[in-house]
Amino acid sequence: MRKAIGIVVLTAAAASCLAAPVSAAPTPGHGASLTRAVCDGGNQPTNGFECGSDLAVARHEGDGPTGVRHVDDAYIWLGELAGFYAKVGGDLQTMLAAPVEGVQAVNVSVRACADGRDCVNGAWPTYYSDRRVVFSHGLFSDDTFGHEFAHGVQDYYGVVESGKQGEVGAVREGVADVLGELFDLTNGTPDTTDRWKMGDGSVFGVYRDMDDPTLRRMPDRKGGQYWSTRGSPVINAAVIDKLGFLISEGQTFNGQTITGIGTARSAALWFAVVRNQPKGADFRAIAATLREVCASNARDGVAGTSNADCAQVEKAITATQLER
Ligand SMILES: [Zn+2]
Repeated sequence: MRKAIGIVVLTAAAASCLAAPVSAAPTPGHGASLTRAVCDGGNQPTNGFECGSDLAVARHEGDGPTGVRHVDDAYIWLGELAGFYAKVGGDLQTMLAAPVEGVQAVNVSVRACADGRDCVNGAWPTYYSDRRVVFSHGLFSDDTFGHEFAHGVQDYYGVVESGKQGEVGAVREGVADVLGELFDLTNGTPDTTDRWKMGDGSVFGVYRDMDDPTLRRMPDRKGGQYWSTRGSPVINAAVIDKLGFLISEGQTFNGQTITGIGTARSAALWFAVVRNQPKGADFRAIAATLREVCASNARDGVAGTSNADCAQVEKAITATQLER
């Protein structure tokens, strides 16, 4: 995968299509080990949430189940997430590990709680920052888990530093949604109901309808109904949500009849987008990156990707008015 993308993109013809040099791709087979650390805030308010310092490690790599559901689910999901990225040539340990009790570990703090917040139902604190993911009790679900760690993958490839505001921020949030939902759809507990809903299974509940963002008054196309003219990343990310849904599942939408390429090819496609998107990518730049990496994946047969799949990607770009 790494070599395939690198070789193809570095040819003169392909390189001319990209706005920025291709970022470093992962080395398959290298560092295939995984060291996990799950810390538990126990739903008690604390001043900080960092795993191994503010909060104690509840489950180290190789430890047995603790009986605390969020701790044990997080441990399992980290293993599944490593598998999700390994399938498309990514190494979670390389991308996300940080020091925890003197060991480099992919780490997450669960049941974190801030003073004055609803420790059971609330959404805060849930975030990614500097190779550390924190989860409140309320927002804990496998799709949001995949979303927050996708921010870590973006960070590794320099996406986060390129901006969190406006369309650039909407791309960052939307791509994290797509990778998070693709994880949710393909992990050990794949969705049968609530497919393409973010937050399903959490106490907080569903907060994004990727299949139809308009259900939650968010836009399903650039410039369409509910489009945030002030450029709210959280609102306009819904266009990327819809794009991810259309590419994977297919639908007749906004004049285009799209046949879905499925979750496996989608995972390979979107991970390649993160690796290859130019700094500060807006919707137009993401459309160009999608074309480029899809063509590359088709040439190399990555996950069975074909030119016919890329024609579907093209239709989804048109349907969501990405280049409007
Ligand atoms: Zn996010």
